Amino acid sequence: MSFDWKLNPPYSNLKQDDKLIQYHASCYCGFVQYVIYDEFPVDSTYCHCHGCQILQGAPYQWACIFPKTSLYFQSGLDSLKFYNNGENIQDHVLPCKVSCKYCSTPLADEGRRMWLAFPQSFKEFRQSESVREKLKPSCHIFYGQRTILGNFLKNDGLKKFEGHKNKSKEILDE
Ligand SMILES: [Zn+2]
Ligand SMILES: [Zn+2]
Repeated sequence: MSFDWKLNPPYSNLKQDDKLIQYHASCYCGFVQYVIYDEFPVDSTYCHCHGCQILQGAPYQWACIFPKTSLYFQSGLDSLKFYNNGENIQDHVLPCKVSCKYCSTPLADEGRRMWLAFPQSFKEFRQSESVREKLKPSCHIFYGQRTILGNFLKNDGLKKFEGHKNKSKEILDE
């Protein structure tokens, strides 16, 4: 396993004392702690693909996309575990899944330049509805693979793409 990843963002980022911390993220056990300085994500989505369902153990994934440069890791670099699900390898090969080695909390999907954070790990997200509004998804993606029951998402006002955002057909609410 290569440790070069520690030399690159977001892991190599320095503390930005001139900026306000917007989000404090932590895994369940607390070994991994990082902060985000940007108030608004570049985008936010609900992903219903089967991969997200299995890997998250959840009906769908809520991901908030931030540039890697807006993060700072306070602790837990040695507790991180990486998994590239495309190639099925446990290594830091991008894009990959990032979780805590100890408690197994899924923390983010790491892309080349972007960090797709799972906001359930943000303290502020759990505490405040107005924060959740700020991080609200712009759409549902891979809605064609959804397994949720009922129709409570039907009239939520968000676009629902069968696959990728803006690259697949929209599934219209009737
Ligand atoms: Zn943990
Ligand atoms: Zn997905």
